Amino acid sequence: MVSHEDVKDFIETQLSCWSDAKRNYDALASVRRRNIMLGDMCVGIQWNPGRISSTGADVAADKIKQRPCFLCSVNRPKEQITYPILDGWEMLVNPFPIFPVHLTIVSRSHVPQKHVPDDIVDIALKLPGMAVFFNGAAAGASAPDHMHLQAVLKDELPLIRLSETYHSSDNPGLMLSSQFGLKLPFGFISGVVQPDDSGMKTLIAGLHIGGLSSDGSLTDPALVNIFFWMDQMGMLRFIVIPRKAHRPSCYFAEGDKRRMVSPGCIDMAGIIIVPRQNDFMALTVAEIGSIYSDVALAQDILLM
Ligand SMILES: [Zn+2]
Repeated sequence: MVSHEDVKDFIETQLSCWSDAKRNYDALASVRRRNIMLGDMCVGIQWNPGRISSTGADVAADKIKQRPCFLCSVNRPKEQITYPILDGWEMLVNPFPIFPVHLTIVSRSHVPQKHVPDDIVDIALKLPGMAVFFNGAAAGASAPDHMHLQAVLKDELPLIRLSETYHSSDNPGLMLSSQFGLKLPFGFISGVVQPDDSGMKTLIAGLHIGGLSSDGSLTDPALVNIFFWMDQMGMLRFIVIPRKAHRPSCYFAEGDKRRMVSPGCIDMAGIIIVPRQNDFMALTVAEIGSIYSDVALAQDILLM
């Protein structure tokens, strides 16, 4: 188990010897944020200039091939330290943070972000109080060529709070967001299981839900955002968000209509990250609704 204290110590140690990362964490104190209500979901908009390279990442296969992989240990900055979280995985401090606790958990080998790894369960169980999440290769991952997860404090994410409120720990199993009885901008699947053998069966069913495939089934492992965490009651919980697109239409619009928003797990969990000030000022409730409906599925068409 990696306690909060261990995580805090790890981040402090890292920032004490890596001035570029320290500068980015210090800058978080002045990051601006405003909240809107989208139906029954509270959505925060965070203006975070440091995220420009991630939001604007060109993840076309040929572009990815041409650049050195920044998650491979040989290419990492010499200041970057690691925390051995699980066999085959290393935990790193994310040098371009969205929250004061923002970790990247990378596979030791350069293998593609093909499918959510089973190890996400063990990693989540090792990080109490934190949500561990996976961006499918076409659903927000800026390094689709190198398997990685991220972790932040679970209470930072509105969608996780919502799921804990409307899918009670004493009602284990899978639930569709439409069963929450709320007006939400997109559909997702919520899972609550005992971290034991019987729970794992339900879990496997949840892990095989993917994004919208060309045949209409929810099986595409690249078009999905997945979160795992352990709640206060010791239950293992997860959220699967099937996606239908990588980026919303406004990302490709011209001039004033363009919005530089490229949703990954954190945006889908209710914190929209915008690197540009004009987007931060201009984004309307309707535009945010369209961003979600462009990339995810409506609640009422999400059936299992
Ligand atoms: Zn790599």
